[in-house]
Amino acid sequence: MSEDRDQTKVSRRKFLEAGSAVLVAAAGMQTAQGQQSKIYPTDTHTGINESQPGPKNNTELDGENPDSAWPPETDAGGQPPFKYSFSLAHKRIEAGGWTRQVTVRDLPISKTMAGVEMRLISGGIRELHWHVASEWALMLYGSARITAVDQRGRAFVEDVNAGDLWLFPGGVPHSIQGLGEDGCKFLLVFKDGNFNEFGTFLLTEWMHHTPKEVLAKNFDVPESTFDKVPKKELFIFQRELPRPLAEEKRQVESVTGGVPNTFAFFPSQMRPSKVSKGGEVKIVDRKNFPATDIASAIVTLKPGGLRELHWHPNADEWQYYVKGKGRMTVFAAGGLARTMDFEGGDVGYIDISMPHYIENTGDEDLVFIEVFPTPFYEDISLAEWLAHTPARLVDEHIQVGEDFLAKIQKKEVVITPE
Ligand code: MN
Ligand code: MN
Repeated sequence: MSEDRDQTKVSRRKFLEAGSAVLVAAAGMQTAQGQQSKIYPTDTHTGINESQPGPKNNTELDGENPDSAWPPETDAGGQPPFKYSFSLAHKRIEAGGWTRQVTVRDLPISKTMAGVEMRLISGGIRELHWHVASEWALMLYGSARITAVDQRGRAFVEDVNAGDLWLFPGGVPHSIQGLGEDGCKFLLVFKDGNFNEFGTFLLTEWMHHTPKEVLAKNFDVPESTFDKVPKKELFIFQRELPRPLAEEKRQVESVTGGVPNTFAFFPSQMRPSKVSKGGEVKIVDRKNFPATDIASAIVTLKPGGLRELHWHPNADEWQYYVKGKGRMTVFAAGGLARTMDFEGGDVGYIDISMPHYIENTGDEDLVFIEVFPTPFYEDISLAEWLAHTPARLVDEHIQVGEDFLAKIQKKEVVITPE
């Protein structure tokens, strides 16, 4: 494998040094003078090589993945894929809605986080449940009533709308119900790559698998109280819409009160963390959302905008593309680099400390979410690094001139153009 990589590097270097003008001239010579010894191309992009005869999946899939079909010449080696589309995930359909997940079983590099898309129709309830991993969520469409209870019996009930977030700490039981005329759709991200949405602790299953006499003893009531407990999980089911929020809050908060730090967060009420001509970013982590142990960034790139070259020293990054089109190159140690294309409904993943950029390649805004299994957001950008290293030293490496280096912004730009 290392031999392969070296050969790739050598041929690429030859090509880059030769320059395209020389290659055009060489090709001309070749056709005009048949007797002369043939000059074989060292370039991998010779035109004739840039066709794809024979069977192919379909032109649409190739069209959505131009950087896989024909990688940029700066790509090298074959890193495992860091993209998975929710379109390829199995959809579990229930009477009150549906759900599908992308986990480490689908996308093998995504070891520390997994994601779920869920749709609840009006009145559709994601059954009262909990799981070991923390749950971070983003409402993508519509509205929902969410509930939870913490370790001290303190209650949480809130209504959330498209664009709002929530965080349920690991082990804290909760529920979600679709509101309004058409319910909702949302994204869930879990701090565990091996998470399984179909294997959570459910209220109905626990009750059903506990002897009825024990339930009776537990609550000091007759056994017949539990005659109607379902014999099978409900998981996602439809019922009437909930009662008014104020009424339900009053009821659940009696005696022990509400949670000290709300589990809901409303990004629409915060100012962007950074705005530039190329777009804006909102960073939501424990600094502004005290309940969370998962950091996130909501990024909007305008057409032509670039989420600048950077890496995250403290955690892997799990991405969800909300809308638009973009591409991302992830550079790995050992001279490896791979570029993949993304659009709405795609998941991306980057290992801790691996540098990357995201570029809007479409003609509308690109909106995506970065999620990190850590309470605090951290990054280091290429520009920051170079701007705060002695210019002499940097110039001795990359020969860009100290004038250029002196002009690099001292403060992180995040999204270019500034
Ligand atoms: Mn959950
Ligand atoms: Mn990043």
